[in-house]
Amino acid sequence: MKHIDIKDILAKQYNGQQVTVCGWVRAARDSKTIAFVSLNDGTSLEHLQIVLDKAALGDVSDYLRMGAALKVEGQVVDAVVKEGGVEVNATQVTVLGECPPEYPLQKKRHTMEYLRTIPQLRLRTNTFNAVFRVRSVLAGALHRFFQERGFSYIHTPLITGSDCEGAGEMFRVTTHPFATPYTNEEDYYANDFFGKKAGLSVSGQLEGEMAAMAMGKIYTFGPSFRAEKSNTPRHLAEFWHLEPEVAFAELPDVIELAETMIKYVIKDVMERCPAELAFFEQHFEAGLRDKLNNIVQNDFAILDYTDAIDLLAKADVEFQYPHEWGCDLQTEHERYITEKVFNKPVFVINYPKAIKSFYMKQNADGKTVAATDLLVPGVGEIIGGSEREADLGKLLAAMRERNMPEEAYSDYIDLRRFGSCPHGGFGLGFDRLVMYVTGMSNIRDVLLFPRTVGSLR
Ligand code: ATP
Ligand code: MN
Repeated sequence: MKHIDIKDILAKQYNGQQVTVCGWVRAARDSKTIAFVSLNDGTSLEHLQIVLDKAALGDVSDYLRMGAALKVEGQVVDAVVKEGGVEVNATQVTVLGECPPEYPLQKKRHTMEYLRTIPQLRLRTNTFNAVFRVRSVLAGALHRFFQERGFSYIHTPLITGSDCEGAGEMFRVTTHPFATPYTNEEDYYANDFFGKKAGLSVSGQLEGEMAAMAMGKIYTFGPSFRAEKSNTPRHLAEFWHLEPEVAFAELPDVIELAETMIKYVIKDVMERCPAELAFFEQHFEAGLRDKLNNIVQNDFAILDYTDAIDLLAKADVEFQYPHEWGCDLQTEHERYITEKVFNKPVFVINYPKAIKSFYMKQNADGKTVAATDLLVPGVGEIIGGSEREADLGKLLAAMRERNMPEEAYSDYIDLRRFGSCPHGGFGLGFDRLVMYVTGMSNIRDVLLFPRTVGSLR
């Protein structure tokens, strides 16, 4: 069906011309001699006004039903009421798909909770239409950022035989039927599809490192899976994970890459999605565009973990969780630091080695590792990264301290045996980035079908 994107008509590329547009009815208004339809095809937040002349078109009632899919032929003219706008005077309308009155999106505004019960339809609201356009632009910007800098896009496996870094609980992958009669674990897994225990990957990092040790600069971008039992507004069981890995990079290089990347993609969204950002600012987060502008224009803070602990000790706040040196920072601590102390993104660096993964580079103090988390106001941690331990002996020692089986990691250990070098990278929670940029406060509202504990649709 030859038709023109509504966004191009609104951009006045077709003034005076006869066009065909297709879309869904988002609103309709009837009067004595004419009726109006707001048509949306998903290419823009703004709807296109279709003017229906009843004398010429006859009974137009079928064209005015919320949610109906229409094909409209007509002429693009200057809008009569909306100054500077355009509208289409319809000469012919075809109903491509009827939409009965039980269509759930009749009202103008629904609660986010209600919309979560209709994931198959909620994209047809302004809010979700805008979220998913921004999500797409962000993904494109990330690819462009890395491609422009000579990074190779690597696809790492989703089914894995190793429980990566033990980061979060793994989902198991099996083809065994219900009540498989095995008496011991070894037999059970030996007879399963892969002949061994298998799971869904929590991170592509270990394989990403293998690629970086040959390609130099790589990134992965795909889903990671974590059987997170915690029911929070920022955890999913299936989330989108962007993970660059860079050979010959040390922690400051990793930090610089992360900051440059965040600024690049935010600038890109500000340029490409001004209407969407204005919409989010009006309905979801006051001051959103100022926030994003400040991100692009100012340096992020860098804070040593030990100094963060000092700040928490001095804070005039009752925290729920302990915050002595050695404790992991909880969301309440992260948010205090990034929102109350700095009010901008903060890289916390040099965490105690006991609370971080085995592969992180051990610092000379013997207590900390060259790790960093990027914390942002409103969301908390969006990036976790580090320089990697390049020394074979130190890596093996860290694995032994954690009782990790060396055989299961022999491929990874090989990287330290054959041409090891300093390298590092990070993992960005893409869905959390979308939250941060749009002002959505629940991660369930930035994916088509969010997967969380007890919820699969
Ligand atoms: P958190 O402490 O928030 O649970 P994490 O430290 O377990 O996260 P990492 O292993 O460092 O997470 O993963 C890198 C990034 O991936 C995180 O900074 C976060 O943005 C994102 N991420 C991790 N787990 C999830 C999840 N369950 N849902 C959505 N995003 C996640
Ligand atoms: Mn982390």
